[in-house]
Amino acid sequence: MNNHHGGVPELNASALIPTRLSADEPGWTTRADVIVVGSGIAGLTTAIHARQAGKTVLLVTKARVSEGSTQWAQGGIAAALADDDSPEEHLVDTLVAGVGLCDEEAVRILVTQGPPALRQLIALGARFDTDATGAISLTREGGHHHDRIAHAGGDATGAEVSRALVAAVARDAGIELVENALVLDLLLDSTGAAQGVTLHVMGTGQRGGVGAALAPNVVLATGGFGQVFGQTTNPYVSTGDGVALAMRAGADIADLEFVQFHPTVMWLGPLAQGQQPLVSEAVRGEGAFLRDIDGTRFMEAEHPMADLAPRDVVAKAIMRRMRACGSSHVWLDGRHLGADMWISRFPTILESCRTRGIDPVTDLIPVAPAQHYVSGGVRTDHWGRSSIRGLFACGEVACTGVHGANRLASNSLLEGLVFAGRIGEVLAGTEAVVRDPVEGRVGPGLLPHGVRRAMQQTMDEHVGVLRSQSSLELAEGELWPLSTAAGARPCTEDWETTNIHALACVLTRHALLREETRGSHWREDFPERDDTRWQTRLVTSIDENGALHTRTEPIGGPE
Ligand SMILES: Cc1cc2nc3c(=O)[nH]c(=O)nc-3n(C[C@H](O)[C@H](O)[C@H](O)COP(=O)(O)OP(=O)(O)OC[C@H]3O[C@@H](n4cnc5c(N)ncnc54)[C@H](O)[C@@H]3O)c2cc1C
Repeated sequence: MNNHHGGVPELNASALIPTRLSADEPGWTTRADVIVVGSGIAGLTTAIHARQAGKTVLLVTKARVSEGSTQWAQGGIAAALADDDSPEEHLVDTLVAGVGLCDEEAVRILVTQGPPALRQLIALGARFDTDATGAISLTREGGHHHDRIAHAGGDATGAEVSRALVAAVARDAGIELVENALVLDLLLDSTGAAQGVTLHVMGTGQRGGVGAALAPNVVLATGGFGQVFGQTTNPYVSTGDGVALAMRAGADIADLEFVQFHPTVMWLGPLAQGQQPLVSEAVRGEGAFLRDIDGTRFMEAEHPMADLAPRDVVAKAIMRRMRACGSSHVWLDGRHLGADMWISRFPTILESCRTRGIDPVTDLIPVAPAQHYVSGGVRTDHWGRSSIRGLFACGEVACTGVHGANRLASNSLLEGLVFAGRIGEVLAGTEAVVRDPVEGRVGPGLLPHGVRRAMQQTMDEHVGVLRSQSSLELAEGELWPLSTAAGARPCTEDWETTNIHALACVLTRHALLREETRGSHWREDFPERDDTRWQTRLVTSIDENGALHTRTEPIGGPE
């Protein structure tokens, strides 16, 4: 990997970002060949592949097994299955959405291995919607030039995928599932290789409290970090723990500035915070369109694909329109889809609207952009390997390079499926070395969860869809001094708050350094894409002394 620093200044973060936080002395120890952290599509699928590779698996997850973004996914999974479609065309659409920053080889892997990975998921028991001939029904979403989104239960794809994978994992006695187990930090051996994790398991049994799970292979599948922002479509577990703990252990973290704001999240008023209801892109795929606060359609003038333009284009157009009209939301008009379509195709969204007093068959739906997905995360190669030996990352926690500056709709579930399979292949071929882990260094401590809301407000106001040097410097000024509040007593909320803070700091730094507008990163003071300076990736790591280094790296990936 090229480690040149590309003129990007280094920061000493030792006082600001805790390094390798100490856990309480582990009260118990357990062992497995592979530890998988997280039970969304990525973690569950990795566990199944690790078993196929002949490994024993400890699958730990911080809440109940079904919690995570996966169960909330509505639209579906993208795969070139139609006769008139091809992986090559899926590749082109993905590269266009990624605005020059996708790792083309990673995308090629995604789109060619996607259809077989989807068939494997069906073979495991997932039931996708079919047409009258029994073929998988395919719909279209923003940025796709073909109908290629496979869906389940109309708009309940994630719930069905989660159900099928949880059932498959439960059938395998070689996978031990531990729920309510919050992974705190990575354990490394004296050579710097991963050898397990520290974790806190709720309860007072033999394995209650803080313990150590030891394994020469650790797979992070902890999902995204929507909770870094105050308004997000992500559930409460999405606090970025995997990215933060990998960073503390010294792993490379990339592309954090590319945060996708979904254009059509139901607007529930200025005081709403936390997870907000999504109105899937598939609703526009079936013909719904946006209107501004005065009822005027505006997307046709913005992009040739109008309401089905890539997400960043739609989110930016909405923000501009909201600013021009002085409104806090726009409208999504799906009245002409008719009751039958709403009932059969979008039962979840229909229910979600109706419980809030909005009937999309007769009413306009108020929508505004909110945080939805992060393209960046733990930097991996094409086999899910991070820069730390024995540490893998899969799913939204990973930065494989497939999304570049912006994720194409419905490519993320697919990414979890495809790269979980590749990690399984690596695990099958390795005889990992087992060594005793060495102690991690003790950092300044945990942040009290009382600071979380202020931090999220800072991120919403200054690091959201609209960014500029002044807003980002304001954010840094508010975020970095918060670390002086460190010293809280360990509890789940404090660990999460500490992780959120670390990621908020690095995300803001990346956003400040990237002086251009590209994909989901929109700088008002640098409104153009700048290939001369920024056809490159920002990568951050923390060194042995706790100093934070951000460097530029070529897109190609650390193969
Ligand atoms: C509302 C919504 C709709 C979406 N719709 C689509 C769609 O239609 N198509 C699509 O492709 N994508 C969609 N996405 C994105 C997609 O759902 C996610 O990117 C994907 O599900 C991520 O899967 P994952 O397995 O990486 O993470 P998740 O499903 O989020 O799972 C993460 C797991 O890690 C666990 N965890 C986290 N931290 C810890 C810790 N410290 N210790 C132990 N366990 C931990 C969590 O409890 C959870 O089990 C949507 C997302 C949302 C929020």
